[in-house]
Amino acid sequence: MGPGPSDVHPRILSAMARSTIGHLDPAFIGMMEEVKEMLKYAFKTENELTMPISAPGSAGMEACFANLVEPGDKVIVCINGVFGGRMKENVHRLGGEAVVVEDDWGSAVSIDKVERALIDNPDAKIVAFVHAETSTGAISDAKALCQIANQYGCINIVDAVTSLAGSELRVDDWGIDAIYSGSQKCLSAMPGLSPVSFSDRAIEKLTSRKTPVTSWFLDLNLVMGYWGKGAKRAYHHTAPVNTLYGLHESLVMLREEGVENSWNRHQQNHILLRYGLNNLGIDYLVDEADRLPQLNSVLIPQDQDDLEVRSSLMKNFNIDIGAGLGPLEGKIWRIGLMGYTSRKDNIELLLSALKNTL
Ligand SMILES: *Cc1c(COP(=O)(O)O)cnc(C)c1O
Repeated sequence: MGPGPSDVHPRILSAMARSTIGHLDPAFIGMMEEVKEMLKYAFKTENELTMPISAPGSAGMEACFANLVEPGDKVIVCINGVFGGRMKENVHRLGGEAVVVEDDWGSAVSIDKVERALIDNPDAKIVAFVHAETSTGAISDAKALCQIANQYGCINIVDAVTSLAGSELRVDDWGIDAIYSGSQKCLSAMPGLSPVSFSDRAIEKLTSRKTPVTSWFLDLNLVMGYWGKGAKRAYHHTAPVNTLYGLHESLVMLREEGVENSWNRHQQNHILLRYGLNNLGIDYLVDEADRLPQLNSVLIPQDQDDLEVRSSLMKNFNIDIGAGLGPLEGKIWRIGLMGYTSRKDNIELLLSALKNTL
């Protein structure tokens, strides 16, 4: 019940235990097509370039930046937690110029500050932000942020590692250009895959680059030779076959549940947890309107020792909750209700364990 990986459903575990077949096997190629179609469903997009990168969420982040940022490009990077900081680091390493818009850890990204940065930097090309900040438990208004970026002629890069399947997310309706997620959060599959999706505008920026993408492995021009529609399925790298079985099964399950129902389940279980925590006298870090249902960051009660409580939960109840990061270390706990972990019985167990421990 931490910030991920979430519990993996037994159906997904058994899908992963099936025999490993070749990554060029026709049966496997058929499964790849299904994975792409189901990812489009999960992202709510018709983007042709929608597929999983063969590496964790951080690689999806790097794929978006490495393909879209050229040396000298000005990128507005919103930082309200750990992951925005990593976006800035990506921009720097690619020779881009990061214009940072900062908000407090625990707050949503301020639309007004982003608009100010866009006015002050008319040469900016990209706006990058984290939809669901797992380090703080705050959600930002992705729809409004993309709208404002588009209005000022910028494309956008969106981190949806924790939001996909857990919070409302509409890639096409909201005008998202490049988005990356992870397999191990609200999709409840094994860690190690990063679904990404690129709009036509993002592909245009990619194909009009003056310089080659500096990463060979993440160069989408090459990756698409294996994953692309009508591609020759040329060998690029050995796909993580069994991990993809797992993602496939998790997407089948998402489709069975319905993605909107999955958003609702995360919200309902968040309310249930919040009610129980409030009864124990535990408050949230984030304002009610900006709270992530799948990552509950709560203030550690004054009279409690962070490490002692977490160790006791682990030792006595086999429950893992997350610690605070950076400036929030020792101040908050991060309780994850992601994917298969987002269940009533887990909440009841945690609440009684916490009551006992405190
Ligand atoms: C977990 C996470 C990542 C990184 O994903 P990994 O799979 O750990 O590489 C990036 N961004 C956010 C918001 C995350 O929660």
